[in-house]
Amino acid sequence: MNAPESGQPGRVTLVGGGPGSAGLLTLAAAQALREAEVVLYDRLAPTDDLRALAPNARLIDVGKLPGNHAIPQGDIEKLIVSHALAGSRVVRLKGGDPYIFGRGSEEVLACHSHGIPVTVVSGVTSAIAVPAAAGIPLTHRGMSHAFTVISGHAPLTENELEGLVLLGSTIVVLMGVGTLPTLTQGLLRHGMTADLPVAIIERGFSATQRTTIANLGTILGEAARASVTSPAVLVIGEVVRLAFTGDTSAEDLISRAGEFAA
Ligand code: SAH
Repeated sequence: MNAPESGQPGRVTLVGGGPGSAGLLTLAAAQALREAEVVLYDRLAPTDDLRALAPNARLIDVGKLPGNHAIPQGDIEKLIVSHALAGSRVVRLKGGDPYIFGRGSEEVLACHSHGIPVTVVSGVTSAIAVPAAAGIPLTHRGMSHAFTVISGHAPLTENELEGLVLLGSTIVVLMGVGTLPTLTQGLLRHGMTADLPVAIIERGFSATQRTTIANLGTILGEAARASVTSPAVLVIGEVVRLAFTGDTSAEDLISRAGEFAA
């Protein structure tokens, strides 16, 4: 193991930066950034005010290389480790929560394998906050008492699709724009009803946040028509009826919820 150049041992804090709104950064996240000497951040981390949040830090964008290629995960881990071994207080700033699909656990293991002290600051995950930003609760008494968060990075297996249909929870999909066709067709094939509401919320908490609502049978066409792009959170389930969009009246919402009251 390399000796720290400064003589002081470095340390690493994995910080969940929340879904993009500065107001959803935790106090612990802000403190870690304030004390950071090096911040490694990427695309989905809230970066607008990063210089102000981390005034003494060297800011390193590990989200892309010139030419738009992502830096390989192994290289990011090497960077984290090498800055910590050089004695720096390193913050690895990630979008949402570091342990939800962010490969945060791999970065923690990389630190452990080099004997580097590492802590994790949980963040507000986009899986919950982005639907909320579109007025969609993931649970609602009488409508849904469970939610399942899945990655759409790779298509689901037949067993997983069947399990989702049997469970009947609200389904939240991250990284799901590319696999939307296989997901919707798979759920329909396993017997999920075609009129189940679906929402796609793009770019949550940005000025261009947009919600597209349809149902399982029609969402593919609607998403194509609207040219939906990543990053987006998909919500599949009755709770989508509670989405508060510009043209929804409070009476409408209350009556939709009332249909499901136990
Ligand atoms: N750790 C993150 C998720 C990383 S996976 C978290 O807890 O939020 C990246 C995926 O998260 C994106 O493809 C998208 O599905 C979702 N996502 C993150 N931020 C988002 C945002 N502001 N708006 C919409 N989707 C977002």
